[in-house]
Amino acid sequence: MSADCIFCKIASGAIPSKKMYEDDDVIAFHDINPAAKVHFLIVPKLHVESLQTCDTTHQSLLGKMLLLAPKLAAEQGLKGFKTAINTGREGGQEVFHLHMHVLGGWKTIPKL
Ligand code: AMP
Ligand code: ZN
Repeated sequence: MSADCIFCKIASGAIPSKKMYEDDDVIAFHDINPAAKVHFLIVPKLHVESLQTCDTTHQSLLGKMLLLAPKLAAEQGLKGFKTAINTGREGGQEVFHLHMHVLGGWKTIPKL
């Protein structure tokens, strides 16, 4: 838990979110500013800044996040989706608590 981190506060329940999934390790909730019809975030409860600060101790957590994406996407009615992990300021990261975006439901699918 990092005191000033918005995603730690969401994970602890101190700040509300449109939560869709939670277990001991991760929480998933809808993005407050959706960039697609369906846009949610998969977030580890552990405060890790970004992929750049992950190491082998985070391997199973990262695998869990990846495997959760298709499951939760299917529950949202998506037949396909994009994932993004913005990493570092130059990678477009704004919230420095690791998270994976899952997006889908476009009429016209944007290319990266
Ligand atoms: P990133 O640029 O990858 O760091 O993305 C951070 C994402 O978090 C953005 O898409 C924001 O819209 C989203 N976000 C920020 N605050 C909240 C919040 N309180 N609840 C849900 N999503 C949020
Ligand atoms: Zn945090």
